[in-house]
Formats: sequence, structure tokens, C-alpha cells
Amino acid sequence: MRALCWHGKHDIRCDTVPDPGIEDGRDAILKVTSCAICGSDLHLFDGVMPGMEHGDVMGHEFMGEVVEVGRDNKALKVGDRVVVPFTISCGECEQCRRGNFSVCERSNRNKKLADKAFGHSTAGLYGYTHLTGGYPGGQAEYVRVPYADCGPLKIPEGLSDEQVLFLGDIFPTGWQAAVACDIEPEDTVCVWGAGPVGQFAIRSALLLGARQVIAIDRVPERLAMAAAGGAITIDFDEEPVLERLAELTGGKGPQKCIDAVGMEAHATRSLDSIVDRAKQAVMLETDRPHVLREMIMACRPAGILSVPGVYGGFVDKIPMGALMNKGLTLRTGQTHVPRWTEDLLRRIRDGQIDPSFVITHSAGLEDGPGLYKTFRDKEDGCIKVVLKP
Ligand code: NAD
Ligand code: ZN
Ligand code: ZN
Repeated sequence: MRALCWHGKHDIRCDTVPDPGIEDGRDAILKVTSCAICGSDLHLFDGVMPGMEHGDVMGHEFMGEVVEVGRDNKALKVGDRVVVPFTISCGECEQCRRGNFSVCERSNRNKKLADKAFGHSTAGLYGYTHLTGGYPGGQAEYVRVPYADCGPLKIPEGLSDEQVLFLGDIFPTGWQAAVACDIEPEDTVCVWGAGPVGQFAIRSALLLGARQVIAIDRVPERLAMAAAGGAITIDFDEEPVLERLAELTGGKGPQKCIDAVGMEAHATRSLDSIVDRAKQAVMLETDRPHVLREMIMACRPAGILSVPGVYGGFVDKIPMGALMNKGLTLRTGQTHVPRWTEDLLRRIRDGQIDPSFVITHSAGLEDGPGLYKTFRDKEDGCIKVVLKP
């Protein structure tokens, strides 16, 4: 089959690789009909996420048709059309039973590596670092779905791939980020980053009843999409962020802040730096204050910082004094996707939201390598790429 494979920094290739097969009775094999490139894939593309290997198949946002099921899988049958959560979860361990699917205790097959990096194992993820299991991803013609009797969401007739594909990651991710804000009717929610995750966080915060949502970015098309979704926008290249936030909140700052940027600005370079505490991460200084630092300074006392943005390794110079004295709450994590999918599918069917608004580029798998660069560099108005294998 054809698949997008990682070969190093800024080197994604469309290769011919072996077809996946059933390895466990609970597995299913999908023929992928649509997949997408995520901001998290950019951490791999930029070579800032440790634990990748040559030839790893990329992609954790995908959906398709079931073409084979393992003999113990009673939930799926050949021909079912499903969206697959990017977090692999067993559905049976203590964390899964509590709904904490992204920290499933069983689905990461590289537990020792994860233990070393994180102090505990976390769930397996598709097309991501070997710290999270190194499972082949879905930017491919076919993909093996482990624990496929738990998690994959069956899609009813009448909905296009474009309407439901993002239930596997960025819609629940924006949603969980907003839910984590415990939104009250008088709240201002400020979202740093108007990429795909930020766009869904903005719309989710409004659906959850925020009085006002502010979006910060510098890419004109992304700011325009945020404004179309109901946000007040701040261009951080043009405007002083903290002053504008004060103006928009009666001098008090937003009650709730969402970091939908992650480690774009600051990054660890190697597995060494994450596992060996003696070697501090390589910090890339930029002309912008770190998002986490800015959020802590901007947030109203007793507020909440919600961090869906992905980090690896260390981030230095965080104003812990301000965080502590202001009594802020910090919430973060990979998304517990299956916790939200039924409700969000219902909201799509009810017409509350059509997630396809975020798609700007659609192409075949062979165009994937070029579109990684287009998405990374925010060229050609690119906000979200969907690929049709
Ligand atoms: P993206 O890279 O397309 O978007 C990031 C946006 O942040 C860009 O538009 C960029 O211009 C903007 N930005 C950069 N520096 C900024 C700054 N200092 N202030 C304000 N804006 C800034 O990525 P995305 O797909 O939207 O993903 C966003 C983040 O969410 C990534 O870190 C990704 O890994 C993460 N993510 C997390 C989960 C999860 O489960 N927690 C799931 C999906 C994605
Ligand atoms: Zn993702
Ligand atoms: Zn589990």
C-alpha cells in the first residue's frame, strides 16, 4: 500500500509499505477514505518530538471502511464506516473505566520507554512517537486499529467524511479544552493560536456559553476564520497582547485561557534531553513571550489555564510565583476522545456545528509531502489539509 512515512526533519515521503494485517482478535483493518494532517504532526515534521524512527507511517486523524475484523471483535463488521479516536484505549483498565482514555494503562506497547520519559506509561497513539507506542498511522491506504471494539465511532448515513472526520481528534480536542475551562455565563475565554485546534476551541467555548471569546494569532486567514466563528481577534504582530486583553476585560484579564499553540516556539530536540534530566532541553528563543508565560500573566486571579497544546520535554522560566499567588488552575493532556464523540456527533447531526468549515485544502495521498510544508508554513491560506488515499 501507499503511505506517508517519516524520514527525518522536513522529510515526509509517500512510500510503498507492507499492508497491515490482524495481529490480535480485537483488531480491525480499515480502508482509509479520508485522513488529515494535524498540528501535532508538525512537531514530528519539524523534528522536535523525540522518539521517531525512519519509515514510521504518519497520521492519527483518519476514518474509513472496515475491511477485516479479528475474531474476538463483536462490535464491528466488514463494511462499517467509522471514525477512529487518535488515542488508542483498551476500554477495560482502571483509567479507561474512569473515562481517562488518553492515559489507558494497556494500549502503549512501549511502556518502558514511556515510563522513563513521563514517569508512567500513557496511551498508545497512531503515527506518533515511539514513546506512545509507535503505532503505524492512518495517512495510508490501510491501517490496523488495535482494540477496535472500543473507541471507533460508527457513522450514520447522510453525513460526509468532511463533516465527521474531525471527531477523531481536533473537534473533541477543542471541546475538551473548553470544557476544562468550567465556563460560566459571564466568562471571557481567550484562545492563543487560531490553528485548527484553536478554531474548535473558540466555537466550543461559545457553544458552552462563554460571554466573549478572544483569539490570538498572526495569520490573517486564521484570524478571519476565528472572527467568522464569533471571536474578537488580536494580531500579536500588530497589537500589544496584554494591553489589548486588559482593554477587552475591564482591566481584569480573561477568566479562562486556552493554549492551542503548544511547542511551536520552544522545543526539545532529542530523546536524550527528555530522559536525561542532567541535559536540559534546547530552548529556541523567539521574539514572542512563551504562550504559557503570557497566559499566566494575563489570566484573572482564580482563573483556569487549559492547555491542549502539545509539549515534549522541558519548558523553562515559567512564572510559578504568579501561577501560585493568583491561585490559577492548570489543566492539560491528550484528549480523552471517546468521552466526547457521541455527544459531538449528535451536535453535528442537530446542525449546531459543521466541522468541515476548517478545511482549506483537499488532495490525494501523493500530494501529502508537499502539503505538510504548505500547512507548516501557513502558505496559500492553509488551515486544514484533508487527504483522500
Ligand atoms: P497549528 O500549528 O496549525 O496552529 C498553531 C497556531 O498557533 C498557528 O496558527 C500559529 O500561528 C499560532 N501561534 C504560534 N505562536 C503563537 C503565539 N505565541 N501566540 C499566539 N498564537 C501563536 O496547530 P493545531 O493543529 O491547531 O494544533 C495546535 C496545538 O494543539 C499543537 O500543539 C498540537 O500538537 C496540539 N494538539 C493537541 C491535542 C491534544 O490531545 N491535547 C490534539 C491535537 C492537537
Ligand atoms: Zn492531532
Ligand atoms: Zn485502558
